[in-house]
Amino acid sequence: MISCDEKIYKKTKKFLEEKNDPNILEKLKVIEEVLNIKNKEERLYYLYDLICNYLDKEFKDNNICEFKCDICIRGRDAIDRKIKKETYKNGCCYNDMSKQNCMYLEEDGTCKTKNIGCKLFTCHYLKKKGYKYRLNNIYLAKYFFNLRQKFYIESAFRLSKEEVIKGILERG
Ligand code: SF4
Ligand code: SF4
Repeated sequence: MISCDEKIYKKTKKFLEEKNDPNILEKLKVIEEVLNIKNKEERLYYLYDLICNYLDKEFKDNNICEFKCDICIRGRDAIDRKIKKETYKNGCCYNDMSKQNCMYLEEDGTCKTKNIGCKLFTCHYLKKKGYKYRLNNIYLAKYFFNLRQKFYIESAFRLSKEEVIKGILERG
């Protein structure tokens, strides 16, 4: 009988082939590395960091939020349109509802923890520009999580990495 890990490998391979991905071999090697970790929690920690690195690179390489002096492109748009806000700084890491920065935001604008939901998130302004990220479009995530886990990860903003991992395991 075909094992669960073999299924993940085969489905991911097919997914990459259908997308005509130019780096299939390299990506399948990464998948093999993940599947070689047999301890469930250890594998999840490893995979979690890989997904974070993937998203960090994606947003950095494409300069998606276009931060300048701590103000993202949506913040600058709000300034241009004279929309009144407490602050225009720190993008999504400032919470308009509670009127404070996220507890994980560092002085230098970096994040103290790693949150996949925050990294995946694109505001309406970016969505209008065509940017939208879902776990189902990421080869490192599509077949590694069930629906409940994916929904949870995509909406668990402003939580620490440890809290998100706990939430994923609870839904496994
Ligand atoms: S997702 Fe939108 S609001 Fe959040 S940091 Fe990026 S541009 Fe700013
Ligand atoms: S957890 Fe999310 S909202 Fe908080 S600092 Fe990190 S990226 Fe920003």
